[in-house]
Amino acid sequence: MSVKVLKFGGSSVADADQIRKIKAIVEADPERRYVVVSAPGKRYSGDSKVTDLLFMLWAQIEHNIPYDALFDTIMSRYTSIEDELGVDAGIRGRFDEIRNKIEKGCTESYIVSRGEYLSAVLISGVLGYDFVDSEGRVLFDARGRLLAEETDAALRQELAQHERAVVPGFYGSSVADGRICLLSRGGSDVTGSLVARAADASIYENWTDVSGMLMADPRVVDDPRPIRHISYMELRELSYMGASVLHEDAVFPARMSDIPINIRNTNVPDAPGTIISKGGDDNSPEIISGIAGKKGFTVISIYKNMMNKEIGFVRRALAIIEDQHVNFDHIPTGIDSLSMVIESSELEDKLDDILAEFRHQLKPDDITVEDNIALIATVGLRMHRTLGVAARICTALADSGVNIRMLNQGTNEINVIVGVESQDFEKATRVIYNEFIK
Ligand code: ASP
Repeated sequence: MSVKVLKFGGSSVADADQIRKIKAIVEADPERRYVVVSAPGKRYSGDSKVTDLLFMLWAQIEHNIPYDALFDTIMSRYTSIEDELGVDAGIRGRFDEIRNKIEKGCTESYIVSRGEYLSAVLISGVLGYDFVDSEGRVLFDARGRLLAEETDAALRQELAQHERAVVPGFYGSSVADGRICLLSRGGSDVTGSLVARAADASIYENWTDVSGMLMADPRVVDDPRPIRHISYMELRELSYMGASVLHEDAVFPARMSDIPINIRNTNVPDAPGTIISKGGDDNSPEIISGIAGKKGFTVISIYKNMMNKEIGFVRRALAIIEDQHVNFDHIPTGIDSLSMVIESSELEDKLDDILAEFRHQLKPDDITVEDNIALIATVGLRMHRTLGVAARICTALADSGVNIRMLNQGTNEINVIVGVESQDFEKATRVIYNEFIK
């Protein structure tokens, strides 16, 4: 039987009603054998996520502030679900163990990881699946970096012993000393992907509270079309430019084994959602797959006559920003000019030093700095087969009076990036969308 791995995010495990939906989804398909869960998220706007409460709990423990009230609040998030669903997953006993650990001394990561741990214990009870702890299976090195291959081997070995199991997301432990380590926020997506790889899953279903990805941000474009199918590469380009649907690192483990990721909506389980796979959708009639963008960039342009003849110029320019630990996003070049597009937040306190070094080491004729630049990426695997995509973008923007400050097309030709003034960002996004999507 092939295996499907499912990950349910915080809103999908927030209360008893949501967990009933999970049960129905899992039971609808016998191939849905491994389930990864987040900690309970917000039940309504203004509510708190359990993970945030656990960070607060740690702050109280660390500062010797009485923590009983908060501890009980967190416990009741789980026991109320247990009581309402009429299951006995042994949650109260687990809280006794946690209290004991706190009294003996524990770490922040241990406390914060309990959100996912308890969620998995509870949901394994509800589903009648085994509980498989991520501790000792999702493995980190002594510096807290995920060890992908070691994790794959450990998870593979463990899952082989369980027909059906629930695994907590977001944490694992260090191979150096066994301490609990956390992934970054939203990291249960990564755990889901690791489990999918280790289980040789046919698909990784990532269940959340939206019916997949949209071709543009709905706050900017009215009623954008859903994306039915997209490639890993396109997703990466769009996520990098701000389209957030999955944790950045969640694609890699699934991608290594060519496992498609399906973004689904727990609240609308019949919606097909978005499939992310190697080839994307080669048959789509649309040239583009999506548009995403971000404000808050600075463009530093360096002009120097005969720059093109000066060997090592770009290397020296890059070494200067590297010395300042500044990351750049794009470096469009001309014959006598070089621009660096950098997130403005990277430059705080450093811009003056960088400019001084540029002047001193590169002896330019002129340097200009423009901030308040927004970048918009138009992404599509099928663009490389189509002539004139960049020309269409430029013409459409020019016709609507938007000034393009920068244009960059990657050599893989799956994206065209335009830089515009921040005030033109929304308009430019709509113009590009309307140019390609009729
Ligand atoms: N609960 C963790 C967070 O809030 C991890 C996750 O949900 O993926 O970031």
